[in-house]
Amino acid sequence: MGLKLKFRWNGHACFDIENQETGKKLIIDPFLEGNPVAKLKKDEVKADVVVVTHGHSDHVGDAPYISIKNKAPLVTMVELAWILGEKNEGLQIHDINFSGSVEVGGIKITAVPALHSSSYDGMYAGNPGGMILDFNGFKVYHAGDTGVFSDMELIGKMYKPDVALLPIGGHYTMSPHEALKAVELINPKMAIPMHYNTFPAIKQDPLLFKSLVEKSTKTKVMIPEIGSEFIIDPKDLN
Ligand SMILES: [Zn+2]
Repeated sequence: MGLKLKFRWNGHACFDIENQETGKKLIIDPFLEGNPVAKLKKDEVKADVVVVTHGHSDHVGDAPYISIKNKAPLVTMVELAWILGEKNEGLQIHDINFSGSVEVGGIKITAVPALHSSSYDGMYAGNPGGMILDFNGFKVYHAGDTGVFSDMELIGKMYKPDVALLPIGGHYTMSPHEALKAVELINPKMAIPMHYNTFPAIKQDPLLFKSLVEKSTKTKVMIPEIGSEFIIDPKDLN
């Protein structure tokens, strides 16, 4: 597999990922406006597809705006898709549910469970999800907001993600100790922590996560800086 992916962490749970072979770009959970640590502005985003894991405002963020501006379909869980579709005229939506997939711009997006909750604008918004993002065989698992759960082992066996993006901030999601268990269950080649140090409630040391994981598993941990781009070559993961 010669395919490389260019990543950028935009703080919190937002990553944009570009397939270096096709130039197609995906952005997930684009909480930019109102995010005290994000450097990227919503008007700077270029995307071919926008993915949202669940309805909370720190995940939907600017997704409808970016989707409409870029004429990029928005992919999310069914009930949230209905709500966003109702509230945003002209929004092109793909609604998926657990184990279901949709392909946009050669990127296959599959919904998997997350142990969390989901609401939008005070309304119940169905189940939250994690997303498997498959770029021609290079697979990234964005876990969304989640606690640790034993079916992460099934997600690992079923989709064999190369890279797992895992929340470590605690309070609303896993902390580094639970996220270590998640890494053991998923067994990705690389794990990248997210959803920490955005607000005081989710203050966390990513180096603790790195040392816990690298001490007891073969998974490498990368800690990106907010706003800086990095390329992952699957050859370097083996
Ligand atoms: Zn969140």
